[in-house]
Amino acid sequence: AVADTGAPTIFDKIIAKEIPSTIVYEDEKVLAFRDISPQAPVHVLVIPKLRDGLTHLGKAEEKHSEILGWLLYAAKVVAEKEGILDGFRVVINSGPTACQSVYHLHLHVLGGRQMKWPPG
Ligand code: 5GP
Repeated sequence: AVADTGAPTIFDKIIAKEIPSTIVYEDEKVLAFRDISPQAPVHVLVIPKLRDGLTHLGKAEEKHSEILGWLLYAAKVVAEKEGILDGFRVVINSGPTACQSVYHLHLHVLGGRQMKWPPG
C-alpha cells in the first residue's frame, strides 16, 4: 500500500511535460492522458493541474467544489472524444485500502469493453 505523504508525484512531471504522456484532453484547469497500464481499451486519467491539497478525495473541502465538478465534466468530454458515451465508468480510488497508488487526485475513465459489477 502507498501512503499519502503529500510529496510531489509523477503527475506533476506529466503536467509539466517533463515526462511524456498521451494527452487526450487539456484545458486551463485539468489534464487528461492515457493510463500507462490500461485496464480497458479506453483508460484515461483526468487530473487537476493544481493539486491544492487534493492528494485524495478524502481531502476534499467546500473550496474544491468547482474543480471537483469540472473534473467530472471533463470525464464526460473524454468519454465523448473516445466514443464511449454509450457506456463508461469513472473511478476514484481514495486511500490505500482502495488501492490508490498516486497521491494527486485523479479520475479513471474506463470503457470500450463490457464492465463487471461489483468491481472487486
Ligand atoms: P491509482 O491506483 O492511484 O488509482 O491510479 C494511478 C494510475 O496511474 C495507475 O492506473 C497507473 O497505471 C497510472 N500511472 C502511474 N504512473 C504513470 C505514468 O508515469 N504515466 C501514466 N500515463 N500513468 C501512470
